[in-house]
Amino acid sequence: MSEPLVRCPSCSDMVPYRTDNPYRPFCCKGCKAFDLGAWASEQFRVEVKPTTEDLLDNDGL
Ligand SMILES: [Zn+2]
Repeated sequence: MSEPLVRCPSCSDMVPYRTDNPYRPFCCKGCKAFDLGAWASEQFRVEVKPTTEDLLDNDGL
């Protein structure tokens, strides 16, 4: 039985997708931490941006 391979989203290495790998789909702890950091800063940017709904609400129709 061969394990399915997935591409690490962080460093693009091919890694076996194993349920006992706590870092899946990443290859290692470092790659997972790096991706979570990028995701967090992305979230922060989205949060400070006003939503379309807010802009429509302030239009005063
Ligand atoms: Zn990696």
